[in-house]
Amino acid sequence: MNNAADKRLIIVSNRLPISLRKDQGRWLADPSAGGLVTALAPVLRNRGGVWIGWPGVPDLDRARSVLDAATRGVGYTLVPVNLTAEDLEQYYYGFSNEIIWPLFHSLQSLCNYDPAYWTAYQRVNANFAKTVFEHARADDYLWVNDYQLMTLAQELRALGCKVPLSFFLHIPFPPPDIFHKLPWRRQILESLLHFDLVGFQTQRHKRNFVHCVRSMFRDVRLYGKGPVSVARLNGREVRIGYFPIGIDYQSFARGAMSPEVDAESRNLKFALRNRTLILGIDRLDYTKGIPYKLDAMRDTLIRFPELRDKVSFIQVVVPSRREIPKYDELKMEIEQLVGEINGKFAEPGWVPIQYIFRSLSRTELLAYYRTAEIALITPLDDGMNLVAKEYCACSVDGNNVLILSEFAGAASQLRRGALLVNPYNREGVADAVYQAYKMDLQERSERMRRLKRNIQHNDVFRWVSSFLHAGIEQDLADFPQYEMDSEAYEEEFWGELV
Ligand code: UDP
Repeated sequence: MNNAADKRLIIVSNRLPISLRKDQGRWLADPSAGGLVTALAPVLRNRGGVWIGWPGVPDLDRARSVLDAATRGVGYTLVPVNLTAEDLEQYYYGFSNEIIWPLFHSLQSLCNYDPAYWTAYQRVNANFAKTVFEHARADDYLWVNDYQLMTLAQELRALGCKVPLSFFLHIPFPPPDIFHKLPWRRQILESLLHFDLVGFQTQRHKRNFVHCVRSMFRDVRLYGKGPVSVARLNGREVRIGYFPIGIDYQSFARGAMSPEVDAESRNLKFALRNRTLILGIDRLDYTKGIPYKLDAMRDTLIRFPELRDKVSFIQVVVPSRREIPKYDELKMEIEQLVGEINGKFAEPGWVPIQYIFRSLSRTELLAYYRTAEIALITPLDDGMNLVAKEYCACSVDGNNVLILSEFAGAASQLRRGALLVNPYNREGVADAVYQAYKMDLQERSERMRRLKRNIQHNDVFRWVSSFLHAGIEQDLADFPQYEMDSEAYEEEFWGELV
């Protein structure tokens, strides 16, 4: 059998790492945004392989030639899966983003359990399976990504696919009390157990999954301690592990020192008149806790008036999923709050909150990361949160402060260097902002050194190799242990482990 280094890799995800759009009658290809692409594209390019997913347009046939050209450009094969407008509405916006997304982020009251969504989800996963089965060779290794494709392994097995199948969930996995609300809970768990490896971001998410499996399958047996355990059920073995995703540290660290970013950073400093920059960068999403963060900023300005005119809070919101009504409502809520806070506190020459609603160019993004003395990243729940890691990687001076929600997956890794906060506790967040503002240089530097060391060591390349290792290698004895704080922390913070 081929070893890990030889096997051709097939990545499957909802979206191809490229999207197609029509501009004045012509199709154009754009690189897709998002953490998953950032993480996997360079690895696949180095190994060679295939990426299967939806290219970003409902009508595929007319776009094929552009996709072929894009394939040549990226250095691996892009295989499109067609989604109709109805698929998109019911499988993607519906089941994936109106049910699984809020439920898995423990926001179950936001779920819309429409049975038609479930039918569409199964249908689309079956379509994906057909395309994958057509392209998979016997000695390939298949890596399926994320919550849109949780029933894919079952469909592939039904078609007779024998290739080893791994699945990685980029978002959180909720505890049983929340997961059990899902009308199709048993089918989803059964489907996931058709994979040979199921990976999560953190030990907490892995533990939640194990609790759910135990609660629903009484005869399951679980073995092993550490990042990867083995579940035995119905004569099958499934590996269950946690693999915290990292970033391409060097590309951020080097990029932040580039002349363009340096120049942009100087402009930014000048425009802010050397006030302390507090930065928030979030996709438009209710899981990111943006209104709670704005409330905390208001609390900061009320309780610590010495910060008025001394700080500028820049909140970047990257547009996302505008087709779902809740996202548009969120945008209005954010804009109203920003208006209220600015209306209350603004003075001639100073507006406390600068709100940006658009995607940033890479130079702009890195310049914001580099320039901000403080980052305020307070999701209500998050699989990992790459922005937190990117911010630290771009700390050129090495004395910036990260304030991070304890409910971000990244918190278990970064807790020793970051100031951890409960995003629902507005006074606690305000206290952390004040603490960061007052923190002396030595403490800032020590904390940031610790953060950078951890993020650099546990980078995206390590993430990929540890996931491949757990999926392909038979012997787990030499499985790399993470140099991270999570084990003790999660035991202490989240209770007893299974
Ligand atoms: N990002 C982006 N455009 C922007 C701002 C940020 O593509 O204008 C990227 C950012 O660099 C990061 C990703 O979006 O890699 C966000 O990942 P994260 O894990 O923080 O949150 P997600 O949006 O995946 O929930």
